[in-house]
Amino acid sequence: MTNNYTKIILKPGKERSLQRFHPWVFSGAIEAVTKELTDGEIVEIFDSEKKYIATGHYQEEGSITVRIFTFEQAIIDDDFWKNKIQKAINLRKTIGLLDNNTTNTFRLVHGEGDLMPGLIIDYYDGNAVIQFHSYGMFLLKDSFVKVLRELLGDQLKSIYNKSESTLTKGESNENENGYLLNEKTSEIIVKEYDNQFIVDIQGGQKTGFFIDQRENRKLLEKYCAGKKVLNVFGYTGGFSVSALKGGASMVHSVDSSQKAIDLCNKNIALNFGTIENHASFATDAFDFLENMDSDYDVIVLDPPAFAKHLHLREKGLKGYRNINNKVIHKIKKGGILFTFSCSQAISNEDFRTMVFTAAAQAKRKVKILHQLSQGPDHPINIYHPESEYLKGLVLYID
Ligand code: SAH
Repeated sequence: MTNNYTKIILKPGKERSLQRFHPWVFSGAIEAVTKELTDGEIVEIFDSEKKYIATGHYQEEGSITVRIFTFEQAIIDDDFWKNKIQKAINLRKTIGLLDNNTTNTFRLVHGEGDLMPGLIIDYYDGNAVIQFHSYGMFLLKDSFVKVLRELLGDQLKSIYNKSESTLTKGESNENENGYLLNEKTSEIIVKEYDNQFIVDIQGGQKTGFFIDQRENRKLLEKYCAGKKVLNVFGYTGGFSVSALKGGASMVHSVDSSQKAIDLCNKNIALNFGTIENHASFATDAFDFLENMDSDYDVIVLDPPAFAKHLHLREKGLKGYRNINNKVIHKIKKGGILFTFSCSQAISNEDFRTMVFTAAAQAKRKVKILHQLSQGPDHPINIYHPESEYLKGLVLYID
């Protein structure tokens, strides 16, 4: 196939992980390039025998030099991306998420999970929030606007680019947050199962809501009838709404962000009106756990990523162990703990070992009832184990 894409030739043997469809090329794997590379450009990867392997985006910054988006040689035009996004949409339809009467928020494109590394698109009742994690994807932003309009038609209400914090590269102000289609008010009301949430797409964390916990929030409902529930690192009250929906007698929500707590209170009112059995605390979780009561039946621990990079793994694990130990120590006999880590650098095995140690140190008898992950709209690319970033355990603590 003739095209103008710059070709990258790999060192002998360095094609192996790509042959197993792992979508990253590190700088050390590269033997030669046919032209000087420009940031974000499309490149083709060849093995040392000059056999085509894959096509991806070159990135100057960071240790991942090329992010692969296809293993079949192709012309990368708008139709190529349209086809890919259509596939992502079809998958969401397969899992019952588009045109769903009770849930209208989900992840439409999940980076490597949809073989579109560097691209995240979250869907909030027709409002798409795009987050670019690679410069190559950012350069295609007009194509994505066009393709989303074509594929979603009238269902699409707006598109907001929220990549200022995920993409530092780019010429000055080139990547400012802002609407790419139809300006909207920042706050949108979405539905997740029967629950409603106000999502602040501009001012909120990530793209506005932690959509990845949907199925885990649903599971929590089952454990809460008549229980006193503590939701730590609760953000805008996702798990708190589920706990109350499940019949909790009392729910406490803790988050260090006042803005998140304000929205949490609004979300409780939106779903339940004025109620007496919810209290929120805008305070540091570590302080709260240090002084907390020991009469909680159910506790949710969903901290931010303590290990954002591999070199922070040990430190992160220590942080997770510390909070899990405190909670396992204090939870009521027969209590239920939903504990999570969303750090990509911490494996399932690391996480389980950490919880094991925290439990042993607290000298409590602990059983695993459920092993959790992100929802299916955040698919895990089987060739890219790193995409299984969310780990959760539901524990029964005697
Ligand atoms: N469980 C939430 C998502 C949690 S995200 C949901 O289902 O929507 C992690 C949250 O931890 C964020 O809201 C952040 O504000 C909060 N956070 C970070 N550090 C904290 C700390 N030291 N104490 C309390 N909250 C903290």
